[in-house]
Amino acid sequence: MKELQDFLLGRIWLREFTPFPKEMIEQAVREGFVAVHKGITDGLQCARCLENGPEKIVAFRCARCAGQCHYCRHCIRMGRVSSCTDLISWKEPHVIAPYSHSFKWNGELTNLQQQASDELGESLRQNRSHLVYAVCGAGKTELLFPPLHQALSQGKRICIAAPRTDVVLELSPRLKAVFPDIIIHTLYGGSTFEKGFAQLVMATTHQLYRFQKAFDLVIVDEADAFPYSYDPALERAVSKSLKPGAPVFYVSATPSQKLLESVPNQSKIFRRFHGHPLPVPIYQPLWNYKRAFRSNRIPAKLVEWIKQKLEQQEPFMLFFPTIEMIRQAEPLFKEMDSRIEAVHSQDADRKEKVMKLRRGEIPGILTSTILERGVTIDNVQVGVVGADEEVFGASALIQMAGRAGRSSIFPDGQVIFFHNGVSWQMDNARKLIKSYNKAGCR
Ligand SMILES: [Zn+2]
Repeated sequence: MKELQDFLLGRIWLREFTPFPKEMIEQAVREGFVAVHKGITDGLQCARCLENGPEKIVAFRCARCAGQCHYCRHCIRMGRVSSCTDLISWKEPHVIAPYSHSFKWNGELTNLQQQASDELGESLRQNRSHLVYAVCGAGKTELLFPPLHQALSQGKRICIAAPRTDVVLELSPRLKAVFPDIIIHTLYGGSTFEKGFAQLVMATTHQLYRFQKAFDLVIVDEADAFPYSYDPALERAVSKSLKPGAPVFYVSATPSQKLLESVPNQSKIFRRFHGHPLPVPIYQPLWNYKRAFRSNRIPAKLVEWIKQKLEQQEPFMLFFPTIEMIRQAEPLFKEMDSRIEAVHSQDADRKEKVMKLRRGEIPGILTSTILERGVTIDNVQVGVVGADEEVFGASALIQMAGRAGRSSIFPDGQVIFFHNGVSWQMDNARKLIKSYNKAGCR
């Protein structure tokens, strides 16, 4: 029963898909420990993701209950919630007694990081939400460690939510190293069942659908990133996962206007941890590049740039607006150097290929926006093909540019926007980068 309790605390879970025997759950319900909720409420709302409305809650002929049933289309990828399925939760709230945690971190924060870290600590004491607005390479993760330690020692349960599995998988081992005493669960689509009660949960934002009134603090990392910024249901999921009155810490290099306006407590870091300015993007016209790739040709200016990087043995990341264009371009670039690799969101080997680039085993990588954040490669040079394309908003352009010059050994790096006419998003990105540099050196 203890195992069931550890699992269910703060969660709302499909009764038929728990990792426990049916009988155990039946007994827990009978003895009054576990509450049972109808999957779709009578008001036609999904009890898991809180979606409602006829587009999301759909009527269907159900084979299971042999009657008129509704299911939730929105969160179906996590197992179908319907009128005839039950969701279960643990009734009693959990209490963690405060205790001192070991904190295995002896890194140093810059003055700006320290200030932001202290301000987060203060917001934690005041139980208020906070936004950390910090440029790419400012060292956002490290400044979270001291307030995290503070919160864990007070017995708080915390979730760090990030929009992408890659980011979650990158962060998780770092946190486990810094907080070795506690159970940390790592949740994403397809993750395996982990035992025990996790005081710290690392999860993709989607996984928050499965929690309710669970956390004393949720930290939303990369708060601006797709899909969080486009999906109001995920915002609801964050608030549902919080205990009443609990705060949210947002962390972002490119916060939306809405976020900037809605969170009054903010810390700003417009300087990288190594103190050097952000590389400012250069514009390079690349007329009719789409036609060139379609007719199996790399535009001359791009050939020149790649040749230069190959000769100077500088690793490069070349971003493309579509997967289709990556597929057209890949064989052409392989003719220049057969070791050049291509990745996109549907590529299962992408982690391995990024590792190869990091280890210097391949000269460069062609990529979609999937690698726009969370990737650090020493001395990497960044090119964006079709920087004027609509898929590249100003935040995406800033994130891609933010890959360059991250290490203190190679604090510079080239960022080049290849375009077919300058877009206002490009100008906006460049203006913002320049303004960060100006504000950062004061
Ligand atoms: Zn749902």
